[in-house]
Amino acid sequence: MEKILNRKEGKLLAERIAREADVKLHECYQCGKCSAGCPMADAMDLMPRQIVHLMQLGDMTEVMKSKSIWLCASCHTCVERCPHSIDIPTLMEKSRMEAQRRGICAVRDVRLFNDIFMETVRGFGKSQEVILEGAYNVTSGHFFQDMKNVPKMLQKEIVRPELNQVNAVNEVRDIMKECEKGGANR
Ligand code: SF4
Ligand code: SF4
Repeated sequence: MEKILNRKEGKLLAERIAREADVKLHECYQCGKCSAGCPMADAMDLMPRQIVHLMQLGDMTEVMKSKSIWLCASCHTCVERCPHSIDIPTLMEKSRMEAQRRGICAVRDVRLFNDIFMETVRGFGKSQEVILEGAYNVTSGHFFQDMKNVPKMLQKEIVRPELNQVNAVNEVRDIMKECEKGGANR
């Protein structure tokens, strides 16, 4: 259920996220170098610079409603370009986790992909591309997406048809559980 935060709640949430990301929001002076270099900018509804600005204002509702937090590829180009090395991908990631927790999702397919990916990691201790691709295509309704690439990927062994589990799968599950618990307690 979507919850709109008031200004004070938004400010507190932005401050906590910034603290956890080791970012000093006031250091951003809106030069825009991050947005200019972002490879995902064309698809975003709010530029990386605007995300930081909204967080400075404590408007976390707008941040969590944006597509941008779901589209950030964590490539770190913005961090490299920023005069203060502001860690925007971590701000994006933590905002995305908050949005997910609150049932806010501007890009349904990304969330779907993320959920299936996490379940395959929980089940096998690592990603299983065959399940990931198949389950995503079926549940998203994009039945034939990327299908034409499959024969070549199999031939080059980029993906393998057989499923296997890592030996330490229980340890992976414990780590995931701890992370989820940490998120819920924050
Ligand atoms: S590059 Fe850094 S200082 Fe400039 S707008 Fe982006 S986050 Fe702010
Ligand atoms: S880390 Fe995200 S916001 Fe930064 S440049 Fe890459 S895609 Fe853009």
